[in-house]
Amino acid sequence: MNSSSSSYKVIVVGAGLAGLSCASKLLDSLAPSDVVIVEALDRAGGRTLTSCLPEDEPVDVGACWVCPRQKNVHRLLREHGLDVIEQQTSGIRVGVRSAGGLTGWLSRAFGRETTTTTTTLFTTLRGLPAWDLIQYALLTRRVNRMARAIPIGRPWDAKGAERLDSSSVMAWLKEEGAPNNSTARGLMAATVQSVFCADASQISMLLFLTVVAEEGGVEVLLEEAQTQRVAQGNGTLSRRLAASLVERGVEIRLGAEVVECSHSATDGATVATRDGARFRGRRVVLAVPPPALAGLSLEPKLAGPLGAEVAAQRMGKVIKVVVEFAARWWEGAHCAMVDPEVLTTTLAFDVSPLQGPPRHVLAIFFFGAKAEHWSATKTPEERREEAVRCARLMFGEAADQAPCEVVASVEGDWPAVPFIRGGYMSYPVLSSITQTKSYSSSVPQSCLHFASTENASAWRGYMDGAIQSGERAAAEVAEALQTTT
Ligand SMILES: Cc1cc2nc3c(=O)[nH]c(=O)nc-3n(C[C@H](O)[C@H](O)[C@H](O)COP(=O)(O)OP(=O)(O)OC[C@H]3O[C@@H](n4cnc5c(N)ncnc54)[C@H](O)[C@@H]3O)c2cc1C
Repeated sequence: MNSSSSSYKVIVVGAGLAGLSCASKLLDSLAPSDVVIVEALDRAGGRTLTSCLPEDEPVDVGACWVCPRQKNVHRLLREHGLDVIEQQTSGIRVGVRSAGGLTGWLSRAFGRETTTTTTTLFTTLRGLPAWDLIQYALLTRRVNRMARAIPIGRPWDAKGAERLDSSSVMAWLKEEGAPNNSTARGLMAATVQSVFCADASQISMLLFLTVVAEEGGVEVLLEEAQTQRVAQGNGTLSRRLAASLVERGVEIRLGAEVVECSHSATDGATVATRDGARFRGRRVVLAVPPPALAGLSLEPKLAGPLGAEVAAQRMGKVIKVVVEFAARWWEGAHCAMVDPEVLTTTLAFDVSPLQGPPRHVLAIFFFGAKAEHWSATKTPEERREEAVRCARLMFGEAADQAPCEVVASVEGDWPAVPFIRGGYMSYPVLSSITQTKSYSSSVPQSCLHFASTENASAWRGYMDGAIQSGERAAAEVAEALQTTT
């Protein structure tokens, strides 16, 4: 039991990119000894984590991709001397349930078939039956058009917001968006899983449209956001950022789970950890995923819309299995995306290193309820076996017959990581956006501030959003400290 008690101007809880960026920004106006970061895990970086394949080849089992429009993360990558490389792009494969395209539709329309029969089809996106491709393009256009009508920052004011918020994306797809086309429906459901790490039946249509509106289109989420990688890995970014803070004199307390925080506008806050350490601070930044706040006793408790907003958050679930193969057995595609009803895994990406002797690496993703199940009930070996089995199907029949020897694998089993338990981001349950009407970042009449990718105003669920939220919280803290000195 550690009974130490220390005083700081600012206590940052959580050493993910939001907490680290917040602390870094605070040093513009505070001395390093004014700031402490308290992190529950025994490492900094949170949902960024770089592991190694043989010969120390860095590979991200957490966040991996960036894109040119993500200015915050690019700035940090430059500052910390990391190299951005282009993600190879050589076409997308899809796995869908198809009713046979236009021919199938016509034969049903002319009564040749009495029921809708769908067969599973693995092909390139462009190789889809033309009717399916047209339906998917029309669906994407419709979602983008609906998204343009969502007021950024105030989605609850959108026309028909309550109806959109009470309907899941899957319900909307079945009833309105693509009732007669399982291919278009499946591809949109796969997109939703790939963005939220949650099933399309859990994500409100209003939330989906809000994120599409914030990022500028379904195709941005699906393609543009994955156009670059970081050669040394994004865990390395977090490690270097943490090391630079320590070098400048900021204390980072690792392995210290915060369990209590009593706070007031006039007297500041006391933060206590499970091992009995106590920290006094004038302001506290809670840079943890919103669902993690449930494990933390706040006194007074969060009330009003913010309390309801936090209570309504559920963590997405993702397992990322990265497998190196002896030879490249997939051709003509760098990415494969599958209707979640077809296979256990939904997404696979070629993440082979671009420099050095050729190596052949795929990142394969389990999402949502399947990720939760495979995390809780299977071993890493079983997950790898299933990931490889699915990838063989996802990349097509030719690939399925080529020899496939696994050299090594690593995984990010995020539902099993304590204090994170999750996915790229948490999401509000159906109907809660319109009920809480809240995007708060600080608690009125208090010394508490919030930072995490979940409360960024752009690139929510991405590293860029985490950095933006951390720097925004730092600016709020600096202003609050100025007005109270
Ligand atoms: C598999 C995977 C793939 C991803 N891919 C991408 C990608 O390609 N591109 C991209 O931009 N983003 C990606 N993301 C998302 C990105 O990693 C996150 O959005 C971002 O890193 C979140 O940062 P954060 O600081 O908000 O939260 P976190 O990184 O979760 O940091 C929060 C920290 O708070 C700590 N904490 C929680 N509770 C307590 C407590 N009680 N006391 C003390 N500490 C506590 C946690 O341990 C954690 O370290 C991915 C995420 C995952 C998991």
